[in-house]
Amino acid sequence: MTYRAGRHFLQIPGPTNVPDRVLRAMDRPTIDHRGPDFNRLSREVLDALKPVFGTRGPVVIYPASGTGAWEAALVNTLSPGDRVLMCETGQFAMLWRNLAQRLGLVTELLPGDWRHGANAEAIEARLKEDREHEIKAVCVVHNETSTGVTSRIPLVRAAMDRAGHPALLMVDTISSLASIDYRQEEWGVDVTVAGSQKGLMLPPGLSFNGIGPKALAASRTAGLPRSYWSWEEMLASNKSGWFPYTPATNLLYGLREALAMLMEEGLEHVFARHDRHAEATRRAVRAWGLEVLCADPEEYSSSLTAVMLPDGHDADRVRALILEHFDLSLGTGLGRLAGKVFRIGHLGDFNDLALAGTLAGVEMGLDLAGVPIARQGVRAAMDHLAAARRPVSLPRAAA
Ligand SMILES: *Cc1c(COP(=O)(O)O)cnc(C)c1O
Repeated sequence: MTYRAGRHFLQIPGPTNVPDRVLRAMDRPTIDHRGPDFNRLSREVLDALKPVFGTRGPVVIYPASGTGAWEAALVNTLSPGDRVLMCETGQFAMLWRNLAQRLGLVTELLPGDWRHGANAEAIEARLKEDREHEIKAVCVVHNETSTGVTSRIPLVRAAMDRAGHPALLMVDTISSLASIDYRQEEWGVDVTVAGSQKGLMLPPGLSFNGIGPKALAASRTAGLPRSYWSWEEMLASNKSGWFPYTPATNLLYGLREALAMLMEEGLEHVFARHDRHAEATRRAVRAWGLEVLCADPEEYSSSLTAVMLPDGHDADRVRALILEHFDLSLGTGLGRLAGKVFRIGHLGDFNDLALAGTLAGVEMGLDLAGVPIARQGVRAAMDHLAAARRPVSLPRAAA
């Protein structure tokens, strides 16, 4: 490998760029996870996580990728043979469904076209049919990372309430938490699933369950076997700032720093920044003459944008060219979208010029790959980014 000058652009929708502050916060000797320094650290992060999840209840931390937190959500609350309603929003929803099946749950899939979010009306209709309340949980991916579509969780909650159905609501926020507005408690979510390597700006390796009171009650009678993922032991230890097994100590240093950074910026500003970058990206896509995969403007993702290529053009070839020439990584098309789309991640530690650079790389790469585009995307994005600054940069009139 030869040295490549300058910074690599990691613009896949997770793992995301880890800020220097977080890297430096983790660059410390490992400490005794049964000692007083660790106890202070863990109490701090367990508390600081709550506002990010929009809950006053417990959030547990696993040394695991997001997939572990998927499993934890299910095994802590459900019993063998329980029926689970899932929404086919894209590849990640399918993977969660497969995991649930392998655990011995009976999964029911509400079909989707991978261009829309969870269909609240379909959920309501299915729950109304389920008079015996055989469905024990509704599982929704908040931000479907394979498609760039964000489901409207409040609509799902309202649909469940209209059906008067007692199923638990479990939401995967792995690529939305700390990037897109999310409120576990206000939206009546029973379990939130999250991961470290996307909006939380950390390396991969941590995942989370935000646990609501109904889910906690369900965990007392749930029959699926669980040990490593058990909330019971975790919550009991966490109460006094400990963990039932060795936690990922250095990642927790990083987490403390990342949470501090999110609070310094202010969550609402973090969300507005993601919205602005997403809108600028969509304007670039349209100016190129290409199409955004997400079909409903109410469901545009602020974490990433999936871009469709015209027939006869291979999205992975474009990605490979862009990586080779501009040292920029983009997300590949997953599952049935393989070769058809590429995904631009604009979440995490990211700013206007990093987006402009990213879009410049994409524009040059599309052109080099012979995809017919109008070379006006970066311009359109810059116009949007500059317009967003205009009100604050107006010179004040002289007194
Ligand atoms: C990344 C992602 C996952 C998978 O998480 P891992 O950390 O790879 O296990 C699951 N769901 C969504 C929505 C994701 O974006």
